[in-house]
Amino acid sequence: MSTTTTPAAEGAVIGKDGLATLVDLLRARGFTVVGPTVRDGAIVLAELESADQLPYGWGVELEAGHYRLREREDGAAFAHAAGPQSWKTFLHPARVRQWRAERSDGQLVIEEDDTPPPRFAFLGVRPCDLRAIAVQDRVLTGGRHRDPVYQGRRSGAFLVAVECTEPGATCFCASMGTGPAAGPGYDLALTELVDADGHRFWIRSGSPEGADILAALPTSAASEAVCETARQAVASAADRMGRTMPDTDLRRLMAGTLDAPRWDDVASRCLTCGNCTMVCPTCYCTTTEDVTDLTGDHAERWRVWDVCFDLDFSQLHGGPVRPSARSRYRQWLTHKLGTWYDQFGSSGCVGCGRCIVWCPVAIDITEEAAALHDWADRPDGEP
Ligand code: SF4
Ligand code: SF4
Repeated sequence: MSTTTTPAAEGAVIGKDGLATLVDLLRARGFTVVGPTVRDGAIVLAELESADQLPYGWGVELEAGHYRLREREDGAAFAHAAGPQSWKTFLHPARVRQWRAERSDGQLVIEEDDTPPPRFAFLGVRPCDLRAIAVQDRVLTGGRHRDPVYQGRRSGAFLVAVECTEPGATCFCASMGTGPAAGPGYDLALTELVDADGHRFWIRSGSPEGADILAALPTSAASEAVCETARQAVASAADRMGRTMPDTDLRRLMAGTLDAPRWDDVASRCLTCGNCTMVCPTCYCTTTEDVTDLTGDHAERWRVWDVCFDLDFSQLHGGPVRPSARSRYRQWLTHKLGTWYDQFGSSGCVGCGRCIVWCPVAIDITEEAAALHDWADRPDGEP
């Protein structure tokens, strides 16, 4: 006889007041709380002084090359897909001063920048971005050469994931296996529910620190019905993703299509502006800039984000290794979806869709991968 089992109730439930207490509590414990808020016509990530600054009642309308805020009647706080920034803005900042030097009385004094980093609490980390943080952990701290800036900011960070119940038209985390349910790595996970039973959040802890914070919140017990409603909302989000990555071995696909004519097609559209790398939560490349004042007595070295779409990126003696747009776009895509596996053991893409939204000419990574897949599947002999 077969039996059906209902997953047991777990975690707890908090209301909007509990969410407000969470922000206050994290701040009281010394965290710089960063979360989504409405600014300049977008939902951005910024320091929050209270939960009132969350984007209650705002959603987003996403398409390739298109981002608009739209008001929501349900007053939800987290019913929006990825915005222009990701958490790498805080963990792997776009500009970091590495040292400065002063010349005084003929002596050169070099000072390293050793200001202690803030202790961040990130509120509203989407499952795809939770995976992106894990990817950057591997890249920036998982090898022989650890990045002290990233490590310093990451080691004390408290992560509050919010599962996705409202995917955007450019999201494809379900086909990348990175969402919409939260994977490991969070301290607390929330699932927002807004229905006839009210506005509330199913909350679970994923670490001792998370359990400690959860114990201090005003909670009520999570019934099996609440847990099931939340799980259903997340499962339904998986079915409503606007994009899908081809269901194939992407690493092999990239390695086997290096000569595909599609690279010329995409190169004819790509502006090589690098927006896709700037907004990508896993892109990590940097370069250094040295600056000095007019007297020559003060100099600084800055580390800044770099992009593989720049000609200078592959500059060696004699010129750039990748002079054409074709070679630069191909480098970006084959690294993201292919050689990242060889380097770091995972995909470099988590399916957040940002590169699609913020590409000024609406180039879509899923469409490019699908075109390459079609070409790889063509009958023998076709060009
Ligand atoms: S794919 Fe789009 S965002 Fe990326 S470099 Fe080309 S034009 Fe810019
Ligand atoms: S490649 Fe595009 S979809 Fe993938 S993680 Fe980067 S920005 Fe998101």
